[in-house]
Amino acid sequence: MIIAWLEEVRSKDVSLVGGKGASLGEMMNEELPVPRGFAVTAQAFRQFLDDTGIAKKLFKSLEIDVDDSEALKNAEKKAKSLIIDAKMPPEMKRDILSAYDKLCDREGEEVFVAVRSSATAEDLPDASFAGQQETFLNVRGGEAVVDAVKRCWISLYGARAIFYRAKQGFEHEHVNIAVIIQTMVDADKAGVLFTAHPTSGEPTTIIEAGWGLGEAVVSGSISPDNYVVDRRTKKILQRNIATKNIMHIRDRDTGNTIKKKVPDDMMDEKVLTDVELMKLTELGEIVENHYGIPQDVEWAIVNEKIYMLQSRPITTIQRIGKETQLVEEGELILEGIGASPGSAYGNVEIVSKLDELDRVSEGDILVTKMTTPDMVTAMKRAVGIITDEGGLTCHAAIVSRELGTPCVVGTKKGTTVLKGVKLVTIDGEKGRVYEGRLEQAITKEEEVAKPVERTRQVTVTEVKVNISIPDAAERAAFTGADGVGLLRIEHMILGLGKHPQLYIKEGKSEEYINELVKGIRIVADAFYPRSVWVRTLDAPTDEFKSMQGGEDEPIEHNPMMGWRGIRRDLSNVEHFKLELQAFKRLYALGYDNVGIMLPLVQHPKELSKAKQIIVESGLDLDKIELGIMVETPASALIIDQFIEEGLDFISFGTNDLTQYTLAIDRNNENVAYMYDETHPAVLRLIEHVIQECNKAGVKTSICGQAGSSPSMAKKLVELGITSISANIDAVESVREAVLRAEKGILLDFARRS
Ligand code: PEP
Ligand code: MG
Repeated sequence: MIIAWLEEVRSKDVSLVGGKGASLGEMMNEELPVPRGFAVTAQAFRQFLDDTGIAKKLFKSLEIDVDDSEALKNAEKKAKSLIIDAKMPPEMKRDILSAYDKLCDREGEEVFVAVRSSATAEDLPDASFAGQQETFLNVRGGEAVVDAVKRCWISLYGARAIFYRAKQGFEHEHVNIAVIIQTMVDADKAGVLFTAHPTSGEPTTIIEAGWGLGEAVVSGSISPDNYVVDRRTKKILQRNIATKNIMHIRDRDTGNTIKKKVPDDMMDEKVLTDVELMKLTELGEIVENHYGIPQDVEWAIVNEKIYMLQSRPITTIQRIGKETQLVEEGELILEGIGASPGSAYGNVEIVSKLDELDRVSEGDILVTKMTTPDMVTAMKRAVGIITDEGGLTCHAAIVSRELGTPCVVGTKKGTTVLKGVKLVTIDGEKGRVYEGRLEQAITKEEEVAKPVERTRQVTVTEVKVNISIPDAAERAAFTGADGVGLLRIEHMILGLGKHPQLYIKEGKSEEYINELVKGIRIVADAFYPRSVWVRTLDAPTDEFKSMQGGEDEPIEHNPMMGWRGIRRDLSNVEHFKLELQAFKRLYALGYDNVGIMLPLVQHPKELSKAKQIIVESGLDLDKIELGIMVETPASALIIDQFIEEGLDFISFGTNDLTQYTLAIDRNNENVAYMYDETHPAVLRLIEHVIQECNKAGVKTSICGQAGSSPSMAKKLVELGITSISANIDAVESVREAVLRAEKGILLDFARRS
């Protein structure tokens, strides 16, 4: 069967019309207002491969080492050109053309249609990898439809999809694709709705709405209006009207979707009437009742008529936290800073030299002066980590949090006090170390990690996560974070053991680029399509000196204020260009969720120079998100000039912003007591930047340690920040604080009005 009309398919037909098609069929059967349409079946696709004789060649071309990015790119190119060049069998083409004609007859004109791929491998956890995301809007005319169908087919062979299937052990031959063709809804307003409250699961409908087509809301490129309706009482509990700067509409001349500024009088106008809110709530209920679980529904309104465009369950797996309570207190023998929560007990293994790392076995507590990137493998074996030096943002703290391993840093004398001690229990929350095994401490093996299904947590202010080691990506994605607000690449590079300059000297730049692509891709994959802001190199000279080939790193009295951040890349452009090549390859592989963030910027000239090199390297600034870290008082004070230079986002690096504003070395224990990210001067800089950015429609975020504090999160929400990026272990508590703060603002508003 080549064509299946949506009204004739049901959920059992997934193998015929894909998940999306089957769900639309179900909704139509419930007499929900779904735009008319048909599917070009998955069997049609398979028949196309067989009848044109390209199947064998195609699958052969996919037998590659997917870790080799060049080979992967070539496989994508080959597969795509095989499909594009093959002539569609005439009967198949005739069937598609006549279905389109029939649709036009039913609509009474030659209609614009949306053409979308719909993969049949329902067990693929993330639809995006199966090529399900491909969508062509505003397609009109039989030939154009046939062409769009082929373009949806080739989305099954994007580099990212090939890579993912190979890694997951899916046979390319067994993954098929259907294509859905539906009458375009030329929306006046559109958005999404959730049929249950994101945290409590209470029967409240949450509706997000913006002007024009749904793209702006779905892609998160605008802050939409947010409404909450109590399903039991049918009362509208909240109306949070946002300033909506941008809308997507269909250009009547070209048929293309274009982005345009929302007219001034509509920007702050509420999108939905009360009647529409009630109607949407009702339709959401019908969908939820039909599927039996809370749904996330895309909708659109045109000429006051509501359409349901898509529905899927809103479930994410959440992990039940580790038991961290230590009920019986034993003998406290050491104290430091609790850097990664949780408790654990194990044998003490003190490491003073790198060649002693092998002594750390599974289940040991690793004790050392300060961890280094060479120690990460041993850190993974350990159940707890204790260091003499460091604060909340040192290497040990960052890596332990990402590994989920309890850690106490800055104990000053751990390596001496613990000499001769066999067994300890550590409390990574309070920063305490006890001799022996305490009753309630549990090891990683005993950890309760029961997956539970929960409704997705939704906050208007996005809650993202920070990552430094790609191995932590899955765990980070598991938190349900809205994206990655900071991917540090220094740890990845330090982990290579060889200085980037040595790669260049040995003529092995390609190898270096591949390593960057490999590391970033793991994170971009785990979060796709959620955005991942990758920070370009921010390497202090002292840390890079000890690497093989790092001898030429200058000796600096104050590396924190020295040759690091963007200033380093702008004076060693050769290295910057290698990073940009890595980004270019990632974009070519389809990772359009990757953004670029420049560290330690202090003058707009640096941003403009960096942009010039980015463009010269062949990257398209219109297609990528580019931003800066605000971590110098200079950049905060003249943020207006950075905005004028042009950027998509800023992110507060409060670890540095605090040290530079207060003149307090962030790694110096002697002045640590004065280090305060909530110092009024720091807060004033933050407030100023948020205000200026909000005026200009530039996104604001925070990725410094302060973003992991619920009380700081509250302040930032009140100041109007767009997103907060926290450590993995803090995502949940920050999300709660954000929710509470957002509700507080609404309540306050309601009380005053
Ligand atoms: C910061 O300065 O707050 C930041 C996130 O960057 P880093 O800690 O890597 O300097
Ligand atoms: Mg910094």
